[in-house]
Amino acid sequence: MADVVVIGGGIVGAAAAYRLARCGVPVTLVDRADPGQATAAGAGIIAPATSLRPLPPFYPLAARAVGFYPELLAQLAEDGETNTGYEVVGSLFVAASEQEAARLDEVQRLIEERRDAGMPNVGEVRRLDGREARDLFPALADLPGAIYVAGSARLDGRLLRDALLRAAERRGARVRRGDARPVRTGDRVTGVAVDGERIAADVLIVAAGAWSSALGDALGLRIPVAPQRGQILHLTVPTSETGRWPIVVGFHSHYLLTFPPHRVVAGATREDGSGYDVRMTAGGVHEALSEALRIAPGLAPATLHEVRIGLRPASPDQLPLLGPAPGLANVFLATGHGPSGLQLGPYSGVVVADLARGAQPDVDLAPFAPIRFA
Ligand SMILES: Cc1cc2nc3c(=O)[nH]c(=O)nc-3n(C[C@H](O)[C@H](O)[C@H](O)COP(=O)(O)OP(=O)(O)OC[C@H]3O[C@@H](n4cnc5c(N)ncnc54)[C@H](O)[C@@H]3O)c2cc1C
Repeated sequence: MADVVVIGGGIVGAAAAYRLARCGVPVTLVDRADPGQATAAGAGIIAPATSLRPLPPFYPLAARAVGFYPELLAQLAEDGETNTGYEVVGSLFVAASEQEAARLDEVQRLIEERRDAGMPNVGEVRRLDGREARDLFPALADLPGAIYVAGSARLDGRLLRDALLRAAERRGARVRRGDARPVRTGDRVTGVAVDGERIAADVLIVAAGAWSSALGDALGLRIPVAPQRGQILHLTVPTSETGRWPIVVGFHSHYLLTFPPHRVVAGATREDGSGYDVRMTAGGVHEALSEALRIAPGLAPATLHEVRIGLRPASPDQLPLLGPAPGLANVFLATGHGPSGLQLGPYSGVVVADLARGAQPDVDLAPFAPIRFA
């Protein structure tokens, strides 16, 4: 059976390695653990039906990806991994002004349409007034209205990544820390050099997040994925009830979500042109904090516990690059997941692993074909 090497140990690479190991394919995953790994900083909102920004092809893929989560969690449980940080908590789509409140009907219709068209993690959708919204998320301002969406989930990306890597290793995958450099001969990759070691590869998967374009350069391939910095705040509050509070999203790109027992996460900046600079900046913290306190002034006394910085792998059209690498016979890409890689990543990992082992994934990959940028 073909030896597969996966470059990148964020959620996408970890999911690909786990799938391959479960299918009995020999696989080595190499990860450099760069500061700014997106998976380690990602907020963890798994609620594509409430997103207003992505292009149309995102939604069918997101539906498959979100629908795959329960199956993945069951597989991991079979492999002894139950601490994944995944939990269904519902979400609030809030209006922060009367103008926004006037658009809630339209948003509610859109979410219901997506549910009725088969988006998996949408249950009951109902309108709330400001007091009802605050009953669910007590730190909120007195907002003019909100939509409650049952079924939305949150995820701790670090926990799921680690669970996938441990489970993959238990099933025979090799996980290697280091800087991977692909070795190309003609139209094939024959191996990967990792700090002096040569690892033979019959197939290569590039899942290197915001660092993918450098691997493209090494392979003679254009991978137009750029780092987009996100600064995200972790606050702690005295109440131990936060685990039950829903996710808060809205018309703007900022959001709030919680983790038990005391944590509220407020995100995030979207800084195009940041390069690989993973500093916490005064402007970034100010932006994330003022947006959080505008929606939820009850968080003002919270402790600012930590600022996480991640580099989202941003593609020019905000859709992932998922499929065969143009001009190379045995290389597959799974990168460019931008702000949605925790939702899409586990399923993208499965799709690219299936391509690598010669199986045809049961999803239309045409909108995500890397050749669109060749
Ligand atoms: C602040 C923030 C909030 C977010 N919130 C959400 C959210 O709520 N929902 C959602 O769905 N998504 C969210 N995202 C997006 C999501 O986190 C990313 O899309 C996803 O984690 C990308 O995963 P990845 O595996 O492609 O890349 P990464 O997690 O960045 O992993 C790439 C890995 O490849 C390694 N690597 C690169 N080059 C090499 C090499 N040559 N050799 C060895 N290793 C290499 C790096 O060291 C790194 O560890 C958020 C991101 C950020 C930053």
